[in-house]
Amino acid sequence: MKAVQYREIGAAPEVVTVPDPEPGPGQVLLKVTAAGVCHSDIAVMSRPADTFPYALPLTLGHEGAGTVEALGEGVTGIAEGDRVAVYGPQGCGRCAKCAEGKENYCLRAAELGIFPPGLGAPGAMAEYLLVDDARFLLPLDGLDPVTSVPLTDAGLTPYHAIKRSLPKLVAGTTAVVIGTGGLGHVAIQLLRALTPSRVVALDVSEEKLALAREVGAHEAVLSDEHAPGRVRELTGGLGAQAVFDFVGTQATVTTAGAVAAVEGDVAIVGIGGGALPVGIGTTAFDVEVTAPYWGSRGELDEVLALARAGAVAVRVETYGIDEAPLAYERLHAGKVNGRAVILPHG
Ligand SMILES: [Zn+2]
Ligand SMILES: [Zn+2]
Repeated sequence: MKAVQYREIGAAPEVVTVPDPEPGPGQVLLKVTAAGVCHSDIAVMSRPADTFPYALPLTLGHEGAGTVEALGEGVTGIAEGDRVAVYGPQGCGRCAKCAEGKENYCLRAAELGIFPPGLGAPGAMAEYLLVDDARFLLPLDGLDPVTSVPLTDAGLTPYHAIKRSLPKLVAGTTAVVIGTGGLGHVAIQLLRALTPSRVVALDVSEEKLALAREVGAHEAVLSDEHAPGRVRELTGGLGAQAVFDFVGTQATVTTAGAVAAVEGDVAIVGIGGGALPVGIGTTAFDVEVTAPYWGSRGELDEVLALARAGAVAVRVETYGIDEAPLAYERLHAGKVNGRAVILPHG
């Protein structure tokens, strides 16, 4: 089968032919209908050899959707032909966090060598994907796999971050979304669907700010050194009760801290490596800063339900599997508005 692999440190991903996978006991083989292209893949691929966290070659793709092609021995509860989305942050299924469905925070994944597809384990950017357990597969139930596949990360990750702040996002409050790309443009829609807050979007690209307005942002502000002042102005000096930073560089994290209101939340979601010092006189009083990761299985179920209800619609541009390297190039150049999705079977 064809697969999109990162094979050599510093090189671009390549489309190669690899052996067709076969499901072992307990495993499910999916024919991949759609795989999302995420900025975090670019962050991973830009790491030097001495800190590169995975074995190479690595088949990319941590957002996957597909049709069940074959079942390994002993698999029940799912049938050939079922259309599903893949829950990516897979855990051991047994530890205290996994027992709560929070496999994204599995306490034993590292020790057991469990990696998400595309982030250590062979990913969804291939014609077929082997999934280790049927519990990682959620029914699409009528959702279009192409526009829904980004919900498994670009929907789930902001949802997990936003859900925690919902009690603070009452009427009259402001939520700030920094970075209105794949995750950010979904975050804006989630905030509009789940809260009465005013949503202020920040980005460095006018094109992305236009998308932010289209998907529901009340205000769209150029993300530069004037942005914190502009957000303070828009909020009568108070700042934002919740700030979601989908970039996470030092510059954006500093902005996030500067616009957080008293008792506000700052979620650093993007993996840009920035850090926010917390202390008296550094941030506003009682600001809570978190660095969440992906989301739980139950939360993915909720995100898919929101999509079925029409509350979120991901903006996608599609590519064939041979064009996957081009999709990464365009994403790297900031040219993808919304989410790029690979269709391995055309
Ligand atoms: Zn991602
Ligand atoms: Zn676990």
